Amino acid sequence: MGTLFIIATPIGNLGDISSRAIETLRQADTIACEDTRHTIKLLNHFGIHKPLTSYHEFNEEEKAAELVRKIETGTNVALVSDAGTPGVSDPGYRLVRLCRQRAITVVAIPGASAAVTALSASGLPSNEFMFVGFLPSKKSARHGKLNALKNLPCTMVFYEAPHRISQTLEDLQQILGDREVCIARELTKIHEEYLFGKLSDVKGQVKPLGEFVIVAAGGVEQVEESVDLSALSRKEAIKVIAERLHVSRNDLYDLLFKKE
Ligand code: SAM
Repeated sequence: MGTLFIIATPIGNLGDISSRAIETLRQADTIACEDTRHTIKLLNHFGIHKPLTSYHEFNEEEKAAELVRKIETGTNVALVSDAGTPGVSDPGYRLVRLCRQRAITVVAIPGASAAVTALSASGLPSNEFMFVGFLPSKKSARHGKLNALKNLPCTMVFYEAPHRISQTLEDLQQILGDREVCIARELTKIHEEYLFGKLSDVKGQVKPLGEFVIVAAGGVEQVEESVDLSALSRKEAIKVIAERLHVSRNDLYDLLFKKE
């Protein structure tokens, strides 16, 4: 029986790989990676020459079964992702789960992850935090997710791509309110940058280039006062409900009173 090794790789600076990660990659029989063209560069840099096989979000299920069969016949498989820790907003979980179900030994070789790197340098409380990862791309789903998070009292960590960073910061301000954030860009790379302050102050300073982690302060848990709707006019009631649900008054009015 072989072993599955989960190996963290750098998120930018190649100096951040651990000597144990390099040693384990050297000793593995096969390396499963997201993009072979990407991982080959990392391996060449360290003079490691091993068979590579691709394991990514589109072939995860079948590939996990195939890798498990290999491990069961004695192959030691190392799993890496394009950057950082496999399984953190990256493929990995299905393979690990299958190994656990088959009582295969799983060994994690820890290292960089953008979420923890940004959190540790954010200046926001880190004793308790929520890793959110990427928000959904569709507006209604993003707003729904942010509404669900808005009263969480702990720090929150988001991943974001450059083409969506401005919109996401707008959405955060609109739904979570004007709270403190630390926006970490291009961590461990030449253009590494942190912007710290209220969303309204920092959102205009962000260059939409590179990779981003947004660390946002937790909200103050608010117990919303109950409202006696019978004491309000229809117009007032619609105003209160629309504000609480973050929907437009017109949409709510149409939904309730427009004939189908
Ligand atoms: N598994 C990785 C980890 O452990 O951090 C995360 C992979 S996820 C597909 C990629 C996202 O992580 C990027 O879009 C960005 O939000 C964040 N990220 C990765 N590297 C980063 C870096 N050097 N600086 C800032 N954010 C980074």
